[in-house]
Amino acid sequence: MRQTTLFTKTQKEAPADEVAKNAQLLIRAGYIYKNMAGAYSFLPLGLRVIENINRIIREEMDAIGGQEVHMPSLQDPELWKKTDRWSDAHVDVWFKSQLQAGGEVGFGWTHEEVVTELMRRFVSSYKDLPLFVYQIQNKFRNEVRAKSGIMRTREFWMKDLYSFCATQEAHDAFHEACADAYMKIFDRLGFGAQTYKTFASGGAFSKVSHEFQTLAEAGEDIVYVSEEKGVAVNEEVLAEADLTELGVTKDELEKRKSIEVGNIFSLGTKFSEALGLHFKDEHGENQPVIMGSYGIGPARAMGTIVDLLSDEKGIVWPASVAPYQVHLVGLNGNDAEIRDYTDGIYSALRKRGVSVLYDDRDARPGEKFADSDLLGMPYRVVVSKRTKEEGMFEVVERSMGETMALTEEALYAKFSNQDT
Ligand code: ATP
Ligand code: MG
Repeated sequence: MRQTTLFTKTQKEAPADEVAKNAQLLIRAGYIYKNMAGAYSFLPLGLRVIENINRIIREEMDAIGGQEVHMPSLQDPELWKKTDRWSDAHVDVWFKSQLQAGGEVGFGWTHEEVVTELMRRFVSSYKDLPLFVYQIQNKFRNEVRAKSGIMRTREFWMKDLYSFCATQEAHDAFHEACADAYMKIFDRLGFGAQTYKTFASGGAFSKVSHEFQTLAEAGEDIVYVSEEKGVAVNEEVLAEADLTELGVTKDELEKRKSIEVGNIFSLGTKFSEALGLHFKDEHGENQPVIMGSYGIGPARAMGTIVDLLSDEKGIVWPASVAPYQVHLVGLNGNDAEIRDYTDGIYSALRKRGVSVLYDDRDARPGEKFADSDLLGMPYRVVVSKRTKEEGMFEVVERSMGETMALTEEALYAKFSNQDT
């Protein structure tokens, strides 16, 4: 991608009303645009990051047997009345609207009801189970506060998976497999080391649930954590948690701020009973399906990466999610010959399958380097008159600040071997 054709531009200052670091940096770098409080546009570079995050999530969900679907955002009140989750007194995040034809409609904030009702059409015997269904879809929530940039918005991507099992054992096995898959996802996204499977309250469905909490100053949650033992407990359940069972004492736990990047719930038969999702077991008896739900917020994960990994100069993307692997910075000083030479390097890299953002703008080196630091591609390759004369390319690794000098051949070898 040539920067002269990219419609987004960097800006020096973040909007004064934007308090969250993730949104400040992402807005300045032109990844996102704030349309209003709690609602952002994802611009070309930002969308590429979200798509990379979603691809990683998909790969790990598919690996544990997930089947992807896409369900509507528009919600039928009648369905939600069956589980008593239509009333604003019970659910305080609904956005609702009127149908022109008469009657109300809601905007989906989660999809347990929808997927359970849908599965009635396809599940009738124990032979149909287990079954794991997920989507990556926009959710709408009338959040009271929207101060954490893209980490808490009123319209946001969610990956929501729902499990349908015939037995508690099958459910527990999947619950475990999904927790492992979540840790793989967070590792691949670059913040696995700071992320803990955390004991939390189960809300309406079960006594306990597991949240995936990433330790970060920008977090809205409080957890008590033993980094040494890898145990974390949400403050909300600290008083009730059986710490002996978790193998820690209160003294070993440190109070930390954290971001809830994902969570997994055991739903039992609450939804299947309310909505009539049954199967015939081996003895021909009718049984309610045992369910679970498993959420991740891709944009919250993106904000977490920015909050944790950025430095004073800007964003630092892990290679796994970066919009482009290489930022090719051309310093041609209006010399047509050098520009043609740099164009040639750009083409050669692309021909080898390397994803490249090419700064072909007519701008001063200082401005180009500052923008490059702000944008945060994993590697910067500088091409100037000297490069052409000496045949050596300056390659800077964004995260470490390390500089290498590579021949043209070594440059191609380095980047075309990367898994992008
Ligand atoms: P929170 O306690 O932070 O409000 P939640 O318990 O409401 O989260 P879930 O309903 O389980 O979250 O949603 C699943 C995942 O979706 C969360 O773990 C989070 O990553 C993401 N998520 C939830 N609410 C938002 C939001 N308003 N904006 C962006 N992502 C969100
Ligand atoms: Mg919430």
